[in-house]
Amino acid sequence: MAYSYQAPVSQSLFDRASVVTPGGVNSPVRAFRAVGGTPRFMVSGTGPYLTDADGREYVDLVCSWGPMILGHAHPEVTAAVQEAVARGTSFGTPGEGEVALAEEIVARIEPVEQVRLVSSGTEATMSAIRLARGFTGRAKVVKFAGCYHGHVDALLAAAGSGVATFGLPDTPGVTGAQAGDTIVLPYNDLDAVRAAFAAQPGEIACVITEASPGNMGVVPPSDGFNAGLKEICAANGALYISDEVMTGFRTSRAGWYGIDGVRPDLMTFGKVMGGGFPAAAFGGRADVMAHLAPAGPVYQAGTLSGNPVATAAGLAQLRLLDDAAYAKIDAVSAELRSLVGEAFTKEGVAHTVSAASNMFSVFFTDEPVRDYEDAKKQEAFRFTAFFHSMLEQGVYLPPSAFESWFVSTSHDERAIERIAAALPAAARAASEATA
Ligand code: PLP
Repeated sequence: MAYSYQAPVSQSLFDRASVVTPGGVNSPVRAFRAVGGTPRFMVSGTGPYLTDADGREYVDLVCSWGPMILGHAHPEVTAAVQEAVARGTSFGTPGEGEVALAEEIVARIEPVEQVRLVSSGTEATMSAIRLARGFTGRAKVVKFAGCYHGHVDALLAAAGSGVATFGLPDTPGVTGAQAGDTIVLPYNDLDAVRAAFAAQPGEIACVITEASPGNMGVVPPSDGFNAGLKEICAANGALYISDEVMTGFRTSRAGWYGIDGVRPDLMTFGKVMGGGFPAAAFGGRADVMAHLAPAGPVYQAGTLSGNPVATAAGLAQLRLLDDAAYAKIDAVSAELRSLVGEAFTKEGVAHTVSAASNMFSVFFTDEPVRDYEDAKKQEAFRFTAFFHSMLEQGVYLPPSAFESWFVSTSHDERAIERIAAALPAAARAASEATA
C-alpha cells in the first residue's frame, strides 16, 4: 500500500531504533507491522492530542493502550508526579504512597481484601497464577483463546493482543513444560470449562479470564459467563482469577466487577491505576493473599514495586476518577460508537461496533463475534485502509484490528468533531479496500 503522506522524522528515528532494538520498538504492537507504514514517534501529549516528531497532531484513541483515562499531561497528575519526584524517586523501603494506593483499590473493589503492588500487568498475572498454584497445590491453569494476560510464559498459548495481531499460534522460547499445564478453551463456552474440570479432577488450580476481553477486539462475556466460571471454580476447589488490567478503573469506578458483580477469588490490575507510570497489582481474598511472602510461603518480590512516583501518579489519577468522570467517558464512547457505525453503514461496509461499557472496537463483519475464532473471521484488510486514512487525517487508532479503542475525560467536542470529519473518507477507504 502506498501512503500519500510522509513522516520523515519518525522514519529516521525508526531507522535508528531498528539498528539498536529488535524491530525498532520496545513492544511489538507499536511497530505497525499489521497495518504497514512508519510507526509515529510521539514527542508530547496534551489532553486528547498527541504530537509526533514531524510536528503533526493526532486525536488519540489509544490512550497508551488504556492508562491515560484523563488524557495526557493532566495538570493534577503532573503536579503529583513533580511533587513526588522532588522527594526522591525510589527508596527500597515501604512508603505511605503505596499504602494509600492499596487503600484506594481496596475501597473501590469490594472483593479485594488485600493487594500487592507490582510494576506491570504481566507481573500481576504471573504472580496471581503462582499464588493460585501455591494456594491450591495444583498445577493446571485454564485460560481462553484470544485473552491476553501479558507475556507470562504459561499464558502465551493462544493469546490475544500482539499475538493475535501477528497470527502467532504460540511463541518460540516457551517450552512444552512451561505451557504444558495450560489448558486453552474457547471463550464464552461454559460447557468446555465443565468438560475440562471433569477430565482433570483435582488438577486445575485456577481459571484466568479477562473480565471482559479487549485483546481480540472487544468481545464481552455472554450473560452469565463470568458467574458460571465462578460457580464451576467454586464447585471444583479452583480459584477464579479475573484479569482487570485493561478494564480495571476504566469500565466503571470498580472496573468490570462494578458492572457484573461476580466476585473473583483473585484479581489483577494495571494500566489506569499507574497514571501512565509502571504500577500494577494483584489482590483478592485475604486468606489466599496470606500465602504470599513474607506472610506466607509463596515468593514474590520487586525492587521497584510500590515506587513512590508511580504510586503518586496512580493515586492522583484514581482520586480524579469520580462518577462524573465515568459519565463523561461513557458519553464520549457512546457518541463515537454511533458516529463510527453511521459512517460504515453509509458506505455499505459490513461491520459490528462491539462495546463493553466505554471500551469498544470495530469488527469488519456483520456476524456475531463471541470468541476468538469469530473475531478472526472479520475482513481485517479493511481495517488497514481505514487505519491509514484516519492516521493521515490526524486520528491515531490502535494499529491493529484486534485491539480496543480507548477514550478519556479529555475528549471534548473539538476532538470528537475532528474524528467525525475524518470518518467518511476512512469508511470509504475501508469499503474500497481489497484483500
Ligand atoms: N492483562 C491484560 C488484560 C492486558 O490487556 C495486558 C496488557 O495489555 C496485560 C495483562 C499485561 O500488562 P502489561 O503490558 O502491563 O505487562
